[in-house]
Amino acid sequence: MIHFFDSHAHLTAPEVLTHLDGILARAKKAGVDRMINICTCRTTLEEGLKLKGMLNAGATTPHDVEKDGEADFGVFERAAREGKIIAIGETGLDYHYQHSDRKVQKKFLIRYLHLAAELNLPVIFHCREAFEDLFEIVDQEYPKRAPAILHCFTGTEAEAEGVLERGWHLSLSGIVTFKKSTALQEVAKFVPLEQLLIETDTPYLAPQSKRGRQNEPAFVVETAACIAMLRGETLELIAKHTRENGIRLFSL
Ligand SMILES: [Zn+2]
Repeated sequence: MIHFFDSHAHLTAPEVLTHLDGILARAKKAGVDRMINICTCRTTLEEGLKLKGMLNAGATTPHDVEKDGEADFGVFERAAREGKIIAIGETGLDYHYQHSDRKVQKKFLIRYLHLAAELNLPVIFHCREAFEDLFEIVDQEYPKRAPAILHCFTGTEAEAEGVLERGWHLSLSGIVTFKKSTALQEVAKFVPLEQLLIETDTPYLAPQSKRGRQNEPAFVVETAACIAMLRGETLELIAKHTRENGIRLFSL
């Protein structure tokens, strides 16, 4: 059986948690035996910490920092210091939706970068239409070559090169399987195997054949198969490298 690593899933989001047992059973059946639960608020973190064997990461998303950033920073900081989370994120900048003021997004990105650097934890970035600022801030505030993931990458080829030249991992979601994602499919062809990750971003962004449904880790197989096809490589090779990259990056 081929084994897969889903590097980014919101497994304790309320709409997922209600039927998590079935979701985890289907993941196991599909060979998806590793996944990172991304906690974005104190409730999803509490639920994640209750689940035996769950690998949790946490931070307030750039969408919510204006509302919850201040109140929840200490919660994530404490969990990180106590070794309860294995990565900091998703943090970053989102100028597409811009649900929070840009200045506030930047402030919390910097706070989370400093925390990750101090504790030597990988950081998971969310970035939409904000690469120039993201690169500038991270270059100033985070050690060079320290571990980082650009999750659900949807930028340009030049932005992908910016990610890769910094030594970060680039994670592709179900978006790469969409018929109109031609630019992203070009990116999928040149990411070095050593820097590639795959993810579902459960419950969002189900791949092409499941569009409109709630996403779940089992569906990461379709994304891996699409990437393999685009690159002219085998599914086994994509699964092996993305899984090994995840295990190394998160020190599992
Ligand atoms: Zn996410």
